[in-house]
Amino acid sequence: MTAITLNRLDKTYPAGNKAVDSLSLDIEDGEFMVLVGPSGCGKSTALRMVAGLEEITGGELRIGDRLMNRTPARDRDVAMVFQSYALYPHLSVRQNIGFGLTLRKVAKSEIRKRVDEVAEILGLQDYLERKPRNLSGGQRQRVAMGRAIVREPQAFLMDEPLSNLDAKLRVSMRASLSQLHERLGVTTVYVTHDQVEAMTLGDRVCVLREGKLQQVDTPQSLFDNP
Ligand code: ADP
Ligand code: ADP
Repeated sequence: MTAITLNRLDKTYPAGNKAVDSLSLDIEDGEFMVLVGPSGCGKSTALRMVAGLEEITGGELRIGDRLMNRTPARDRDVAMVFQSYALYPHLSVRQNIGFGLTLRKVAKSEIRKRVDEVAEILGLQDYLERKPRNLSGGQRQRVAMGRAIVREPQAFLMDEPLSNLDAKLRVSMRASLSQLHERLGVTTVYVTHDQVEAMTLGDRVCVLREGKLQQVDTPQSLFDNP
């Protein structure tokens, strides 16, 4: 099953520059797809169109089997994590992670169970009663990821989520992200300019250049046929 379909997707900004140029990509159910390429190649713009944060100027976007071109972000079942993490400062880690489930009136026992599971994968089980200000930068980013994925959206979207972390933290975060994906199986689209990150995390990697798709394949095939 295809989870997300980009069919000749275009983005021309009002200034007239074309950031995404006829991009076609089928992202499979449960797949971890990485969009990679140099700064300015259109990765963020493509991701933001999937999220509903950027108007689509041509082509089609489908999530599941629904055409989403004109669907506002709040009506899409997607969750996005950015470089910077806006946590709720007055809420504990447990409340931050469970926030979306609480809004959706999920039963308290179910929220507890799901928050515990995600916190354990992310190594946050000992920090659940703390406030964000008492966490390190890496831990805060883990909370932001937990909060986004805990409700198991149709698509989990991340834009350079590790780029503010130091090299050592990035390595451990990559391992946690792989585990989260393995355990929860949520379809993921991940933007990075870091090739190592792309090759380590992706089930498939989509290489963009000047808004166009250059290559899309498994890390192994890309490694064998660069
Ligand atoms: P990447 O994420 O690969 O760095 P972006 O999607 O941010 O690339 O940008 C792609 C191109 O679109 C770049 O040339 C960038 O300058 C341009 N761009 C991005 N955002 C805007 C905007 N709001 N208005 C006009 N041009 C933009
Ligand atoms: P990144 O490359 O990490 O996506 P940028 O520094 O290129 O980030 O862009 C930061 C912000 O500036 C984004 O919101 C982007 O949409 C906007 N932006 C980027 N390029 C342009 C541009 N040429 N004109 C207007 N806004 C832009």
